[in-house]
Amino acid sequence: MQTLRDALRQAEQRGAAIGHFNVSDLVLLKGVFTAAQELKVPVIVGASEGERSFMGVRQIAALVKSLRDEFDYPIFLNADHTHSLAGAEEVARAGFDSVVFDRSALPREENVRQTREAVTTLKAIHPSILVEGEIGDIGSGSEIHDAMPEPGKGLTTPEEARQFVEETGIDILAPAVGSMHGMSRSMVQGESKQHLDIERIAAIRKAARVPLTLHGGSGTDDDDFRKAIAAGISIVHINTELRVAWRRSLESSLAGKPDQVVPYQILPPVVESVREVVKSRLQLFNNAQSSR
Ligand SMILES: [Zn+2]
Repeated sequence: MQTLRDALRQAEQRGAAIGHFNVSDLVLLKGVFTAAQELKVPVIVGASEGERSFMGVRQIAALVKSLRDEFDYPIFLNADHTHSLAGAEEVARAGFDSVVFDRSALPREENVRQTREAVTTLKAIHPSILVEGEIGDIGSGSEIHDAMPEPGKGLTTPEEARQFVEETGIDILAPAVGSMHGMSRSMVQGESKQHLDIERIAAIRKAARVPLTLHGGSGTDDDDFRKAIAAGISIVHINTELRVAWRRSLESSLAGKPDQVVPYQILPPVVESVREVVKSRLQLFNNAQSSR
């Protein structure tokens, strides 16, 4: 069975990025998996601390593993934004493929110290787990914001990226390159798009020498995605776009069947709308042209 490390290497070789989609329930997981399966591309399922506490750490691990085993499929599980070592150890024991150990809100030295400790501790539990570290400000909350915070302030520099990777031993880096978690109302309406600092991505990838993750991908301009992947982004996180599709289609399915109480009669259109969003994003991430 392919490992996440192999899948990342192969994605980089073909100038593609692996899509990472957060799930909170079986509807979202089905939508993500069926879209990936249709396109025959690897996919990462993400579960943040909130999503894991709702679904159960071992329960989401078992669900993803069951899809991987039954369909012999490269579907991977990531513990998104994990803020404590105890939480990271729990997912390592549950067999997650990767963990985003996020102490980026701390002063730099403390972020370095705790991330280095996490790398050592987690690999002792689960040697093939990949640890992602984070520096810079990429906002918080994959939800709809009245206004997006200004991304200009906490952008990562190539030198910061190089030092952080060397000092911590992380496998993957999440830099701040212009994207922010969540979407503004105008982004949800399709009236505005998020833009990325492509030159910064290329310089960080060269300096850091590890795969890079783009967090907060929802609402990003398609052409910026293509260029960012060609410049060195290997994983793209999408969450808010799925949540918007989930809620809208759930509301319309309920409204269309006011007397229906059978969940499996109400929920298939919601799976379908999530699948459509995931499929269009995966097509974009996997057809990006490489300049590397
Ligand atoms: Zn994120």
